[in-house]
Amino acid sequence: MKNKTEKILIAGPCSAESAEQMLQSAAMLSLISSHGILRAGCWKPRTSPGGFSGYGEEALRWLKDAADAYALPWITEAGTAAHAEKILRAGGTQLWIGARTTGDPFAVSEIAIAMEGTGAGVWIKNPPQPDVKLWAGAAERFLRRAVPVHGFIHRGYKTWPQTEWRNAPHWNVQEELRTIFPGARIISDPSHMTGQSGRVAAAGLTALQLGADGLMVEMHPHPENAMTDRGQQLSPGELLELKCAMEKTGKAGEIGKLRTQIDELDEMLWAILGERMRMAEKIGAQKHSVGMEVLQEKRRAEVKSSFRKNGHRCGLTPAESGALFEWLHAVSVRKQNDVTRIPEKSHA
Ligand code: PEP
Ligand code: MN
Repeated sequence: MKNKTEKILIAGPCSAESAEQMLQSAAMLSLISSHGILRAGCWKPRTSPGGFSGYGEEALRWLKDAADAYALPWITEAGTAAHAEKILRAGGTQLWIGARTTGDPFAVSEIAIAMEGTGAGVWIKNPPQPDVKLWAGAAERFLRRAVPVHGFIHRGYKTWPQTEWRNAPHWNVQEELRTIFPGARIISDPSHMTGQSGRVAAAGLTALQLGADGLMVEMHPHPENAMTDRGQQLSPGELLELKCAMEKTGKAGEIGKLRTQIDELDEMLWAILGERMRMAEKIGAQKHSVGMEVLQEKRRAEVKSSFRKNGHRCGLTPAESGALFEWLHAVSVRKQNDVTRIPEKSHA
């Protein structure tokens, strides 16, 4: 693994869409950063079939030619060994492994074999699930084939319930990865974390404060026309602003780091609370449709006892878990009454 140097910036559109779009992206990036790496997806891993899945080898040519024209290093994603071979044949010296591929040990091994002995290196995105061993395991598969791992890309995790994040950071996983690979470079991808261009800069700067060594950011010369991930592409002007802010951003102290992590946990609590409220409404509607009273004493006692037990597990006193239960239950009864439109008093 390479030594840490200045903050890394990998930027460019989600997908390579045309020769012109790539030339404009390269021109912008070369103005914004003296050491930027031009990114673009040539093969897009789509969640559902039928969507735009990239222009493949043609896109690879647009990316390479645009980067060469501005003397920029370039990078794209390989999802299969065949992609990796095409990238290498085009003269690529590095590629990234996308989130879905990192979670697939067979695909990772095949790409590692395709890269063995070529000197080309990889950047590895975190897998879709917050499993640090799977992330580290992908790196080990490359290292066993002596393929240089240039670094890791933290792009966050799909959660249920969905929070404000498209892919929630789970900052603790990045911390854990640092304990497995202490010297490794870890950069952050706030574009895929947030899914919203207006939130990319703040999330990227937070990642830097938490110790990220740089950023991978989606930037499109005309974000409103992007063929993929339209809502999260920065305009060149926005990327320039972010680049300036990056240079001024230092590391947070320990308390700041811990607070960022607890804020993320609070967001998850709120998301779960929202789901619980919606479930209470469904139960209220169901009770109403079968003519059942909202308040069911036996059920109330069961849930209360389960709160006591779980509260104990979490280090809460019986009084604290009791208070939490009473509050939640009262809200739930109110929600159920709202659904049935029966005044709360008649069931209190
Ligand atoms: C991308 O970088 O465009 C991409 C598809 O990323 P991820 O693998 O993180 O979804
Ligand atoms: Mn994308």
